[in-house]
Amino acid sequence: MPKIKLDKAAFQSALDRQWQRFGLHDAREMTPYQWWHAVSAAANELIAQQPSGRRDKKNQRHVNYLSMEFLIGRLTGNNLINLGWYDTVKKVLAGYDIDLTDLLEQETDPALGNGGLGRLAACYLDSMATVGQDATGYGLNYQYGLFRQHFADGKQRETPDDWHRESYPWFRHNPALTVRVGLGGKLVKSQQGQVNWEPAFTLNGEAWDLPVAGYENGVTLPLRLWQATHPHPFDLELFNDGKFLKAEQAGIDAAKLTKVLYPNDNHLEGKQLRLMQQYFQCACSVADILRRHHLAGRSIHSLPDYEVIQLNDTHPTIAIPEMLRVLLDEHQLAWQDAWAIASRTFAYTNHTLMPEALERWDEKLVRTLLPRHFDIIRRIDREFKKVVQRRWPDNDEVWAKVAVRHDKQVRMANLCVVCGFAVNGVAALHSDLVKTDLFPEYYELWPEKFHNVTNGITPRRWLKECNPALAKLIDDTIGKGWVTRLEKLKELEPYAGQADFRQRFQQIKRDNKQQLASKIKQLTNVTVNPEALFDVQIKRLHEYKRQHLNLLHIMSLYRQLRDNPSLDIVPRVFLFGAKAAPGYALAKNIIYAINQLAEKINNDRKINDRLKVIFLPDYRVSVAEWMIPAADLSEQISTAGKEASGTGNMKLALNGALTIGTLDGANVEIAEQVGEEHIFIFGLTDPEVKALLAEGYKPARILKQDKALKGLLTELGGGAYSNKHKHAFEPLLHSLQAGGDPYLVLADFAAYCEAQRRVDALFRRPDDWTRSAVLNTARVGFFSSDRSVRDYQQRIWQAKR
Ligand SMILES: *Cc1c(COP(=O)(O)O)cnc(C)c1O
Repeated sequence: MPKIKLDKAAFQSALDRQWQRFGLHDAREMTPYQWWHAVSAAANELIAQQPSGRRDKKNQRHVNYLSMEFLIGRLTGNNLINLGWYDTVKKVLAGYDIDLTDLLEQETDPALGNGGLGRLAACYLDSMATVGQDATGYGLNYQYGLFRQHFADGKQRETPDDWHRESYPWFRHNPALTVRVGLGGKLVKSQQGQVNWEPAFTLNGEAWDLPVAGYENGVTLPLRLWQATHPHPFDLELFNDGKFLKAEQAGIDAAKLTKVLYPNDNHLEGKQLRLMQQYFQCACSVADILRRHHLAGRSIHSLPDYEVIQLNDTHPTIAIPEMLRVLLDEHQLAWQDAWAIASRTFAYTNHTLMPEALERWDEKLVRTLLPRHFDIIRRIDREFKKVVQRRWPDNDEVWAKVAVRHDKQVRMANLCVVCGFAVNGVAALHSDLVKTDLFPEYYELWPEKFHNVTNGITPRRWLKECNPALAKLIDDTIGKGWVTRLEKLKELEPYAGQADFRQRFQQIKRDNKQQLASKIKQLTNVTVNPEALFDVQIKRLHEYKRQHLNLLHIMSLYRQLRDNPSLDIVPRVFLFGAKAAPGYALAKNIIYAINQLAEKINNDRKINDRLKVIFLPDYRVSVAEWMIPAADLSEQISTAGKEASGTGNMKLALNGALTIGTLDGANVEIAEQVGEEHIFIFGLTDPEVKALLAEGYKPARILKQDKALKGLLTELGGGAYSNKHKHAFEPLLHSLQAGGDPYLVLADFAAYCEAQRRVDALFRRPDDWTRSAVLNTARVGFFSSDRSVRDYQQRIWQAKR
């Protein structure tokens, strides 16, 4: 499919209309922010005028990707690149002495997600548009995205992230798509014995669309974000009943619904408002999907032939009982018919095995907010019980594990597996563990439901856009095909052996490090040496991701340098980026510890630039785009079995960083792809972790043997990093010792340090290091999200059912 050509004159006049709208007399009166706004709005106007490229291939189901989070990052640069308009727009702006690259820095990231799960949804939209998969992304239009982070005396502080959705230039609002959603209320039986749900109040769901452009193929897909408002002017029925205040009140509550994104990553939040958000998003999306199906003149029974609903984790699970409710109550279908439709429409992606992250809702809450849905969930559970009874007669133990309702709670993952036609994990190891550890009984019942789709990342944002110098080197070396066929990077392999290519590759890395060093200076006022090894750990702060393992290693290097000031070590800059959920005290304590250690080391004259520790505040997509091209070493050090996949690992390897990591998530497959000589694998494997925990792991035993490690903990508890405050790191020290060290930080410490020594040894041989770095870039083409999307197409969306 051809790309949409940019008509320069049309762009020019669209731009003119923008500054006229600002009330100015000339383009040159615009502020940099207005320039960004004008360019984005002008581009948006031009693509809106184009019919989207045809993507409705035969036998293709429309994919409805339901996700509570879309961490899309800045859109303007990305859309201009994908549309193929970047260079032309750059030239037009140069005519006004405006630099496009500078102007793009004006955009506030739409941070409508927490971390990996939301970013994955964004990468998949980019890839679905690029491979021509007909799709709609469905999410929520939060007024405040993930909180902004800054540090006060080393401690995380949060402020609201108002990204000004009301004036975001990429939105298109279509009032014709507004949906009505009910909540609360009661069930009333009609005279014919039909149950009717009478909601206590209703809200409007407004559709706000963002265009997601495929790469130079003329396709744009909508990311449809629902925004809650109260029915205008307010609920007339209540008003007519004389309940003025209540009518007004409902309006106030409605606006609250899509105010904020819950800031938890890999942890459930059992709040009523969260369930209301989930239902609101699902009800709007299901109504929209059925409207599209109906408008195409198709029978409701054929829904699964044309539509598939992919659930990004269990957050949108309530879409299943909502679909059944509409089929039963509005289409008046019999249970068997409604079930036949719903159970062929939904597919579920599991993102975690950790119990604290598996969603469960109190039945009381579900019943209060959604009485009809609770009824339907009970019916699902009853019907499923018959299936289990046939397979495991009178087996209470099995039933306790597989029931949808258990312990006065609704288990959302179980609901997904029972109702969905497909279940997938997000990396090979994780998908195996889904079958063996999380859902063994379901796997026994329905082995054909279970799949693996290893996650991926879009090469457009994570190489072409964020690392233009490396992208150009690749273009010049093997041509431009890699942008949509990332496996073509394999053709770079022979160049790893050529000195002049390695030198150019190395020079690009050095330039990127220099650029990041300037950014660091600007943001933190710390000077770092671009010749040092840039050791990068960027991801949400979580115990299982083990930023504290990294911390202990830095402390140990610092200790060694103090004990032996002339020690010859590889100079390192340790770089961190991470937000902790505001309610997660231990995670915040780890941030504080890293910042305090940074303060000490960065101001220690005797260290003399050999170590630097930088914690960049407010980690987000745009910060990732600065850091990743400059990384030498990628820290992927989660406790084996805990990180479902990871995608940061893929972004870093693609940009020529070597990985130090455990055999966890997609690290396993990265190691297979790049070869074990080009990755630093260490630590306990998943079976070893399980065995150690089963035999009764005692962190004290490790500390008894490793006096140096014990010494580091003593230092932390002695106030050396906290102005003599002995209790400053109590939560961290408790978790590692009396708390039982549940993530086996101490158990993996020695192996981690040993792997870091291997890193040093290779970094001392720059030519060999660069050879490995080139081979990392060349061999990770598999991790393109284009490949993931094609996997979904083959295994799940278009498979024969
Ligand atoms: C890729 C990405 C993540 C996920 O990182 P992991 O290391 O896989 O946890 C989180 N946040 C942002 C901003 C990202 O771009």
